[in-house]
Amino acid sequence: MKAAVMYEPKKDFVVEEIEILPPKSKEVLIRMAASGVCRSDYARLMWERPSVLPIVLGHEGAGIVEKIGAGVTRVKPGDKVMLTWAAPCGVCHSCQTGKYNICAEAVRERTSCTMRDGTTRLRKGGREIHHFDALSTFAEYAVVNESACIICPEGVPLTSAALIGCAVMTGIGAVWNTARVNPGSTVAVTGAGGVGLNSIQAAACVSASQVIVIDVDEQKLEFAKQFGATTVINAKSENPVERVMELTNGSGVDFAFDCVGSPKTIGQLWDAVRPGGTVVVVGVAPVGENASIPGIQLAFSEKILRGSLYGETRPHVDFARIVNLYQLKKIKLDELVTKTYKLEEINQAFADLIAGKNVRGVIVY
Ligand SMILES: [Zn+2]
Ligand SMILES: [Zn+2]
Repeated sequence: MKAAVMYEPKKDFVVEEIEILPPKSKEVLIRMAASGVCRSDYARLMWERPSVLPIVLGHEGAGIVEKIGAGVTRVKPGDKVMLTWAAPCGVCHSCQTGKYNICAEAVRERTSCTMRDGTTRLRKGGREIHHFDALSTFAEYAVVNESACIICPEGVPLTSAALIGCAVMTGIGAVWNTARVNPGSTVAVTGAGGVGLNSIQAAACVSASQVIVIDVDEQKLEFAKQFGATTVINAKSENPVERVMELTNGSGVDFAFDCVGSPKTIGQLWDAVRPGGTVVVVGVAPVGENASIPGIQLAFSEKILRGSLYGETRPHVDFARIVNLYQLKKIKLDELVTKTYKLEEINQAFADLIAGKNVRGVIVY
């Protein structure tokens, strides 16, 4: 099969023929239909977050079940499925306490860049190639865990459904699962990229009374309006904290979501939430960068600062819920896909990602 292989940090992907071994017990072979191009893949490519090489990246995908391994009961050949990059084992401490997004088995797979049994299914001339998040969606086929597969209903295009696997779930889940934003509350979101737009539409979907969006890119702020922003602030020309205070009669917002992940934007949102309000950090800060907040305010303001990984997803519940709301036209997915690419064009797709040309670029197989 054809795959985009990363051999060296900071170099182009090599698109070439490699071998894929059959699925083992509780594993499934997927014929990929689509894979989103995500900033987290780029972080691996640029070695901001090292992995094991060589590796096939890609962690936001959807496809069709081609073949099932022994003991698979959840899916059968021919099923259309969306894939989660944190396939819950169901039995570890995290899973048993409802924290499927930080399943210990999935964390172990992400670190070792292998499948759950510690081995790999990808080869090139006898050489082992590693898996990314036990998915590796930048290839025509992928071997994945059975529990990584969530059935996609008929009539939902897989090119759009693929994005639920990372950007959509991360952005929406931060608002619905982590912060539990309630109707009428006021919300600020920093960063109107692939994840931020989903936090924006999630807040609008649950009837937040204000959705204030902060970015430095006019094009992204335009998209933000289409996804439910009530006010946009260009932080290049306006002080975002002062503007948020103005818009909330000096009190600050109830909830703020940082989809950038920089010490500066975290600090700004800390200042922009009301006493007792919550700042949720969704964006991933570069290794070694520390956010700082005035310690005295932790007690006196009772503000809450917390992180949200993958929207605290319970994938088998949340992916289905998001697809249902998409079918009811309450959540936008198709509009997120601004350009599609062939696998051979993957290096261009990443150049466009970094140039900020797309909401989401998607590789279509
Ligand atoms: Zn688990
Ligand atoms: Zn991602």
